[in-house]
Amino acid sequence: MSQFLLIGAGIIGLTSAVRLLKEGFSVTVLEKGEVGQESSWAGGGILSPLAPWDYSEPVTQLVGYSTSIYSKWVNELSLSTEIDPEFNECGMLVLPPYDSVKAHQWCISHNIKKEINHKSFWSTIHQSALEEAIFIPHVAQIRNPRLLAALQREVIKRGGVIKEFCEVSKLNLKNKSIVSISTTSGNYSADDYIITAGAWSRKILGKYALNLNIIPIQGQMLLYKFDAPPIPSILLQKELYLIPRLDGHLLIGSTMENVGFNKQITQAAYDKLYKKASRLLPEIETKHLIKHWAGLRPASPFNIPTIGRHPDLHNLFINSGHFRYGVTMAPGSAEILLNEIMGKPQPFDISFYQKGWNQLGKIEFS
Ligand SMILES: Cc1cc2nc3c(=O)[nH]c(=O)nc-3n(C[C@H](O)[C@H](O)[C@H](O)COP(=O)(O)OP(=O)(O)OC[C@H]3O[C@@H](n4cnc5c(N)ncnc54)[C@H](O)[C@@H]3O)c2cc1C
Repeated sequence: MSQFLLIGAGIIGLTSAVRLLKEGFSVTVLEKGEVGQESSWAGGGILSPLAPWDYSEPVTQLVGYSTSIYSKWVNELSLSTEIDPEFNECGMLVLPPYDSVKAHQWCISHNIKKEINHKSFWSTIHQSALEEAIFIPHVAQIRNPRLLAALQREVIKRGGVIKEFCEVSKLNLKNKSIVSISTTSGNYSADDYIITAGAWSRKILGKYALNLNIIPIQGQMLLYKFDAPPIPSILLQKELYLIPRLDGHLLIGSTMENVGFNKQITQAAYDKLYKKASRLLPEIETKHLIKHWAGLRPASPFNIPTIGRHPDLHNLFINSGHFRYGVTMAPGSAEILLNEIMGKPQPFDISFYQKGWNQLGKIEFS
């Protein structure tokens, strides 16, 4: 069986590694820092696009496929590792304003009733906003740090190797195939290589990135703690969301800024998130901020990731560019990548996830 070297141990690298190990491949994952400390750690863990009606078919299809296998996937992982990532199908309440025509059509095609049950749960929300709100009951959430810890343990349990503080600096080629990669801990070689380096993917690929357009888009988040969940489900209003964890933690996200590879938090972002969130949930004003952080999303045009073999280098693959929804898309993307590697049938037409090499278009981030 082939030996694989994966570059990047975020959710995409770890999920891909587990999938390959399950199939009997030998896997080493190289990580420039510690496992799962970048975008995958920073994310909110909502397992859905924010306003699902705003996205194109390639995003909808991958999200639909990934979420259809998510609960079984997490269940198996948590049984095997004894780490519970707290998959919680809590639903998501979307408050106006939103594109009502698109939303209405989407609700009909997904059999979502606009009438909200248990309005009393939402006593803090202005009743007029509630009249126009949409509740999507099947939306789940997960706790990213726990999911990453479980994946790390599963990789090791299945015989995979993870090398931390091992930064890949160069791909070494001969006759259109990679023969080794240079890292801060020496050279590594394998039969096949997979780029799972999120926002850094283009940097690693250098000229072999072709027209791949993956850039870092910074997102900042706030964390508060209540005695019990202050709201019964995820609450979304335009770009602002509140995610209640079962133990009373409340995440508030998120900003979108094109500031390069910069994870500096700012007072302006704090003020913006806090002001909007406390308008929806005034109780926040009685709580202390626990943490404020920033992460770098691997942004790509139309939020469509690139998954599969490099067009020119036959032993190089990529699974990257999941932008706002990498946590959601992870199990589905790993499955698609594995099918591509093994020449197995795909669950649907995956040609869109190859188009990124040829410059799909502009990145929208505001
Ligand atoms: C604020 C915020 C909120 C989000 N909320 C959600 C959400 O609610 N739901 C959702 O589905 N998604 C969400 N996301 C998006 C999601 O987190 C990302 O799409 C996902 O984490 C991408 O995973 P990744 O593994 O590709 O990237 P990363 O987690 O960034 O992993 C890439 C890894 O590659 C490593 N690496 C980079 N360069 C090298 C190198 N040269 N050598 C070795 N290793 C290298 C990095 O250190 C890193 O560990 C959010 C993101 C942010 C920032």
